[in-house]
Amino acid sequence: MRLSRGSVLVVASHNPGKLREIEDLLRPYGIAATGAAELNLPEPEETGSTFAENAALKARAAALASDLPALSDDSGLVVAALDGAPGIYSARWAGLNKDFSAAMVRVQRELKERDTEDYSAKFVCALALADPNGESEVFEGEVHGHLEFPPRGDKGFGYDPIFVPQGFTQTFGEVDPAQKHAMSHRARAFAKFVAAMGMPR
Ligand code: IMP
Repeated sequence: MRLSRGSVLVVASHNPGKLREIEDLLRPYGIAATGAAELNLPEPEETGSTFAENAALKARAAALASDLPALSDDSGLVVAALDGAPGIYSARWAGLNKDFSAAMVRVQRELKERDTEDYSAKFVCALALADPNGESEVFEGEVHGHLEFPPRGDKGFGYDPIFVPQGFTQTFGEVDPAQKHAMSHRARAFAKFVAAMGMPR
């Protein structure tokens, strides 16, 4: 599939933080984004066992329901000393109330229980683009760093306040959105997506 200026994409996410970041990333290419919530699209169950599988199933469901190309994001925090947790369960660790303060406390508690000094972690993002026929392609990006507690900053979303990218001292919750966009897992996956679509700025 190819996209060009004026194309409309459904962003298959009900997460306002992700939607805002993806809209920011698409804007320079003249591509308009509509959120899945605006179109009342149902949120499919994330039954995959990898970020890529979950991204593809969300994009396909949104494309089929809306009859428009759909872009989805499945992403999360992967903590080395927790054997990759919370990983694909990153959103679920925040519970039905989407309480990320509680999820960050759980990460800290589980690290303490492991009695480890290894606080290395990465964010992973799989972006999937599906067309209304159900064909999909997936693009992945990662950013490596480590975790610091207590959480700092209120600029990002999710686990941003505990994640310090390699080579930096501030958390993703403290840096400006533009700085996060320049290096994030989502921006790296997005760069691969843009290259594959041949999208001119
Ligand atoms: P899902 O992909 O909707 O299942 O949820 C991914 C979850 O991972 C989000 O709800 C966040 O908790 C977390 N996450 C993904 N990307 C980021 C990010 O850029 N910053 C902070 N947390 C993130």
